[in-house]
Amino acid sequence: MNVDSLREQLPAGSVVTDPDTMEGYRRDSADLVPPGKPLAVLRPTTVDEVSTIMRWATANSIVVVARGAGTGLAGGATALDGCLVLSLEKMTSIREIDVANQIAVVEAGVVNADVGRAVAQHGLFYPPDPGSFEVSTIGGNLATNAGGMRCVKYGVTRNSVLGLEVVLPDGRVLHTGARTVKNVAGLDLTHLFIGSEGTLGVITSATLRLRPRPTSTATFVAGFADLAVGGQALNAIFASGSVPSMLELMDNATINAVEDYRRMDLDRDAALLIIGQADGDSALAEAEAIAELCETHGAEFAMATDDPTESEMLVQARRLAGWATMEQGPTVIEDVGVPRTRLAELLERIHRVSADTGIRIATVGHAGDGNVHPMLLLTDLADADEQRRALVAAENICSAAIELGGTITGEHGVGELKLPWLEQQVGSTSMDVQRRIKAALDPAAIMNPGRGF
Ligand SMILES: Cc1cc2nc3c(=O)[nH]c(=O)nc-3n(C[C@H](O)[C@H](O)[C@H](O)COP(=O)(O)OP(=O)(O)OC[C@H]3O[C@@H](n4cnc5c(N)ncnc54)[C@H](O)[C@@H]3O)c2cc1C
Repeated sequence: MNVDSLREQLPAGSVVTDPDTMEGYRRDSADLVPPGKPLAVLRPTTVDEVSTIMRWATANSIVVVARGAGTGLAGGATALDGCLVLSLEKMTSIREIDVANQIAVVEAGVVNADVGRAVAQHGLFYPPDPGSFEVSTIGGNLATNAGGMRCVKYGVTRNSVLGLEVVLPDGRVLHTGARTVKNVAGLDLTHLFIGSEGTLGVITSATLRLRPRPTSTATFVAGFADLAVGGQALNAIFASGSVPSMLELMDNATINAVEDYRRMDLDRDAALLIIGQADGDSALAEAEAIAELCETHGAEFAMATDDPTESEMLVQARRLAGWATMEQGPTVIEDVGVPRTRLAELLERIHRVSADTGIRIATVGHAGDGNVHPMLLLTDLADADEQRRALVAAENICSAAIELGGTITGEHGVGELKLPWLEQQVGSTSMDVQRRIKAALDPAAIMNPGRGF
């Protein structure tokens, strides 16, 4: 198959077939998913161009893998053999900021942090903040229903979206939702596409819901010498009814990875570090109350501050965790969730999995959501035995999460990596319903086949 007939319909430079350039579009950030060789990489700049591409792909039965920044951790944006990689990287316009209605209309290729910077000038903010927020795109965030550190108070990506513009596999442009906070007209197609991992259509733009920027923010941190004691302190925070705007954890291996990456003066001996924030008028009082609660529940040290520099350093230490561990070598960043009061049990199970498989695991996560990322630290991707043990570790972590009433993925998505365990969590009826929805929207099965469900 060649792409000449598609090239003729698109502006010069939109269709890339040069192998060296295509190399940069073959992988996402899931190290264990082997990349295929794409037929071409497409870099459209308008919705019409995306429609043209999808019509051509359907007419020629060519698989399409939509792509944002390729920071996905489940292999959903990894190229398939003979596919078109449809990169949204050039669709970067912020079409509108409507301050009074607290809405922004942005194209799929806009980087998450750029939305934040653009709306900050108007006293507003866009809450979803995945750790990759300086790199990942709104389209990728929507397609994975990304989470982040502020979810504990403001919800995941889904909770900040009012409507979408989506190009369907047949090239038609679908508009979902409305510009209103309330809208119950028809089936909720917006939320069907959010988290659909490029399996149903290509998201080209979104109407995002913004919030007023909090008046003030304060940060708390607490260190524990024992994992179980830290888990009990977290339960005490949950039970207190306090709603922090961030509640994160880092275990000892993560703390040390961060310190190795950049000196942050974290306690290298702590078994568990809890870092969080409160926002609003009584931010400092709330942060102090949580720090105190940690102290009464066995923290070796705990403090709260509203000093912006100190706060930023602490939050930065947590934000660096993913990058810092990836720097140490091949890393499989797992993503599981449990009802948050069962977090301590999950941490204990992860420890056991590490001991049983001999795979070093550093765990970081969004404690307030019961969502953690056990990061499997590998030494050599070519070591078949290590890969086998890593897969056993991943499987055992997923099984533990399901047994504890949780999920095999809290925010990274199923992609290709988590597919083997999906049915175990959701059951056969759910799988059947999902496949029927897919068949209705994508009858030729060209949208990211073998991913998502
Ligand atoms: C260091 C690090 C930290 C991270 N922290 C977090 C975190 O805190 N929370 C979190 O949720 N995730 C996190 N991630 C994972 C990742 O950043 C998110 O999944 C992110 O949403 C992916 O965005 P992307 O633009 O890179 O998408 P990609 O990786 O390019 O694509 C991801 C998926 O979305 C699909 N897709 C992309 N764009 C579109 C589109 N326009 N239309 C339809 N489908 C599309 C792709 O086909 C693929 O299935 C982290 C990743 C890294 C490397």
